[in-house]
Amino acid sequence: MLGNGIFKGLAITARNFLGSYVESDRLITVEYPEERIPGAENARSFPFLVYDGNEPDQGLRCVACKICEVECPPQCIFIVKDKARKPDYLGKLQNQPGVFDIDLSVCMSCQICVEVCPFDAIKMDTDFELSTTDRFGELLLHKEQLAKPNAYFQSIHPTDAAAVDAGFAAAKARAEVKARADAAAEVRKAAAVAAPPPQPATDHG
Ligand code: SF4
Ligand code: SF4
Repeated sequence: MLGNGIFKGLAITARNFLGSYVESDRLITVEYPEERIPGAENARSFPFLVYDGNEPDQGLRCVACKICEVECPPQCIFIVKDKARKPDYLGKLQNQPGVFDIDLSVCMSCQICVEVCPFDAIKMDTDFELSTTDRFGELLLHKEQLAKPNAYFQSIHPTDAAAVDAGFAAAKARAEVKARADAAAEVRKAAAVAAPPPQPATDHG
């Protein structure tokens, strides 16, 4: 019948409109900012730097390799390597950033910096309420403002954080096995050096 589609469409609209008063899953809006819908786990806003432990400077995973700085399409990351080095989670001495800035007003949230980082040191935040009139004061973030604990990463991206933590734990376990094997080899080597050389057999007959 001519116009059948229009009546079908109106019926769907009416059903959704009336249903929104009685069915909670049809209430797709909330009164923000008083009410908030929990963000999706894969939501992303801007990058932050992850640190382990309680000391942001000591625990920062970043080793100032500058891969993210080179790969960032709009070039909004600025890194200066520090002269001092510090041990990483395996106890290995690594470089660290003296300066690590990101200009959030230029960042396009592409996540490429996260994808290219070999150290799981930079991750995407979910905080999006960043509007300001002070671009340089509020949106040019320095290392101190970018550093956030691993517990924060675990709270916003639990699946990713668990995978990273498992990878670190496995690497640490492998390093400990290797260290024990190296130590045992050193002990055997020292014992072999200390032992008197075997005497040749003599015939007194
Ligand atoms: S998210 Fe993209 S644009 Fe932003 S800092 Fe990372 S690489 Fe650069
Ligand atoms: S965040 Fe990652 S890729 Fe960027 S400098 Fe630090 S370790 Fe390198």
